[in-house]
Amino acid sequence: MTTTEPTSEPEPESAVETARRQLERAAAHLDVDEGIVERLRHPTSVYRVTIPLERDDGSREMFTGYRAHHDSVRGPYKGGLRYHPGVTEEECVGLSMWMTWKCAVMDLPFGGAKGGVVVDPKELSKDETERLTRRLAEELRPVIGPMKDIPAPDMGTGPQEMAWFMDAYSMQQGETEPGVVTGKPPVVGGSYGRERAPGRSVGIVAREAIEYYDWDMEDTTVAVQGFGSVGANAARYLDNLGASIVAVSDIDGAIYDPDGLDTTDVEDHDETPGMVSGYDAPETLSNDELLELDVDVLIPAAIGNVLTAENARDVSANLIVEGANGPTTSTADQIFEEREIPVIPDIIANAGGVTVSYFEWLQDINRRKWSLERVHEELEDEMLQAWNAIREEYDARDVTWRDATYIVALSRIADAHDVRGLWP
Ligand code: GLU
Repeated sequence: MTTTEPTSEPEPESAVETARRQLERAAAHLDVDEGIVERLRHPTSVYRVTIPLERDDGSREMFTGYRAHHDSVRGPYKGGLRYHPGVTEEECVGLSMWMTWKCAVMDLPFGGAKGGVVVDPKELSKDETERLTRRLAEELRPVIGPMKDIPAPDMGTGPQEMAWFMDAYSMQQGETEPGVVTGKPPVVGGSYGRERAPGRSVGIVAREAIEYYDWDMEDTTVAVQGFGSVGANAARYLDNLGASIVAVSDIDGAIYDPDGLDTTDVEDHDETPGMVSGYDAPETLSNDELLELDVDVLIPAAIGNVLTAENARDVSANLIVEGANGPTTSTADQIFEEREIPVIPDIIANAGGVTVSYFEWLQDINRRKWSLERVHEELEDEMLQAWNAIREEYDARDVTWRDATYIVALSRIADAHDVRGLWP
């Protein structure tokens, strides 16, 4: 077969289309009320806000923001806020669906949400970013809260944005409410280990999958696309366990060393943008070439829709562990299924982020700080429980890892809808 073979579905597809197809596949394996599945195809609400921003030169510019609430049957809405020029309402809805499954698969008492602002954060000064974030918090104030909807960092946002967001919300409420957002700096109620948690969980899940397939960690080669917070922490975690990280990349390109890179020596994109491709490695590659490298484990940890109908037949890895949200289109997923390349999905692999967000929220509402050791221990426990639940489904049924993961999530959500019932 060739890469030019016609595909069954047009690409690129939107996040919401991918999310709906994945839901339907999982539902086909379960005896779930069709009405509940239909409900889960739609968000509860989507809020659209206009954010007027005073630029540093005194002019005013309008930005559009969204917050999608998908489902809250298991608890308050939870999910990130991204600042990216490509943010759309549809993307927020699709990503909010993934948050519902992600929280359910981790058995966290949360539902799913996602939001964002259509903006290129690189084009804003620090003061402008602060004003934009505070005004966004104010516009969303009626629909968020520690028991309602708890935002968190995502692409283009981080601890500083969360601190401004929490401050703006708290000033208006008249009391400090650290539990309104997670991913804050530890000094204002953030959790130790939160920033590194998504990458750490990708590493933990990759470690478990490597063990499942009975590979020797010392002989395992890994390529990581995207050396930001998720990719760099996953790479360093696996490097520490003895795997050989042969290639990593940032937006400008990849570096390759068949003998293994020293991942602590390569600065990640967040530490110094441009340092990855500028690093003195034996070989440089394009991002596309990295995705096709003959390695044991491929970790796409940059952005969505990078594994598509175009390149899925050229991927040579033996295992894919999704670090980014939605890196594989559903057509690519089908191709990997045919080619028997296992894909461990994002909603388990990077779920360490929302899991440590949950720990942070617990610390905030209980006004009690956990040590980094405790965070790591509890994260390890939660990841293993989720992994074992998925592995049982995978071993018991003839399904992909993604289907097994969705089966675990959907059965928990459907049971919750069933016992709560429909009212009014
Ligand atoms: N944005 C992260 C994700 O996609 C974290 C969400 C959270 O911590 O609430 O999982």
